[in-house]
Amino acid sequence: MNLKSTPVVRPSMPPYEEYIHEIKDIWSSRWLTHSGPKHQALEEKLSEYLDVDNISLFANGHLALELAIDALGLSGEIITTPFTFASTTQAILRNRLTPVFCDINEDDYTIDVSKIEALITEKTSAILPVHVYGNVCDVDGIARIAQKYNLKVIYDAAHAFGVKIKDRAVGNFGDMSMFSFHATKVFHTVEGGGLTYSNSKYSPVLARLRQFGMVGQESVPTVGTNAKMTEIHAAMGLCNLRHINEEIAKRGRAMDRYRELLSGVKGLTLCNPQKNITPNYCYFPVLFNKKEFGLNRDEVAALLEKNNILARKYFYPLTNDFEAYKGMFELQKTPVAKRIADNVLTLPLYADLTVEDVDGICKIILHHG
Ligand SMILES: *Cc1c(COP(=O)(O)O)cnc(C)c1O
Repeated sequence: MNLKSTPVVRPSMPPYEEYIHEIKDIWSSRWLTHSGPKHQALEEKLSEYLDVDNISLFANGHLALELAIDALGLSGEIITTPFTFASTTQAILRNRLTPVFCDINEDDYTIDVSKIEALITEKTSAILPVHVYGNVCDVDGIARIAQKYNLKVIYDAAHAFGVKIKDRAVGNFGDMSMFSFHATKVFHTVEGGGLTYSNSKYSPVLARLRQFGMVGQESVPTVGTNAKMTEIHAAMGLCNLRHINEEIAKRGRAMDRYRELLSGVKGLTLCNPQKNITPNYCYFPVLFNKKEFGLNRDEVAALLEKNNILARKYFYPLTNDFEAYKGMFELQKTPVAKRIADNVLTLPLYADLTVEDVDGICKIILHHG
């Protein structure tokens, strides 16, 4: 194993020749952006793969999320979780709305549905839960609350590409789901994102929001931004999608090995697979308990780094602890999220990580004494 450097994530790439072949016709068509043939083909292939009625593509997942909030006409307060990537909370604040932080479950780190209702006020317009690490939220519980209080639901499904709940694909819950196609995600277009939704009325709304609020060339009925996916990016997606099942299977083999070697170790808490879920093996988070294991999370991260293995404190800090929001939120309102964030380390995981790589990483963790 080459321990010289093991990153925490490593983008999947299609064969070079395949990508070159895919973009070749762009040189004659000169159609580079604005819903070209690659964009259209990717939309079609993705709606098939994700098994959804509608999908709209964007320059990245974050802008997709900002525009989902806009398209649904949300106002006031949005109930969400702080155990997520910056994007989720930033998207709410960039829309000049107020995030209200709900705590998370101890076992799967998704929103604790039993704590949502207490946070609802007359200003609440939506719930924005995160399928964090590809773990699926309690979609039925969330739907019941949303219906009772007439709230919209947007899922941050950035981690959940290809995940299924029983036979139902994850992008079919709530009003919209956002998928990120960033380079480090399970499926990527270098940078990119998508929104899935069952109500087709959002399709033209999203199309104009991502194109400066314009309809055609002379009509500008709304305020919009520029969030279009280019043909060059869509072409990367078309190539990567052809290999996605094998890439996910390879991740699965690496994760199985981690579980084999690390489960049952005193002081380590692994995130157990959820029941009735088809996973995508996107992240492998581990909680470290110093009293029982001998090292805390920061010490394990430092030990790995000394061996040129980069693990990540993903997600630390919590978004309600960001310097940018100083004084706005109270950390003690989400104690479970705080404890998880303080003890979690996400170990390297990507399709090309071999079983031998995993053995090497685990050896260093387990023989720390
Ligand atoms: C990656 C990610 C995003 C944002 O996606 P980009 O495509 O990088 O803009 C949003 N939420 C979560 C939880 C993410 O991990």
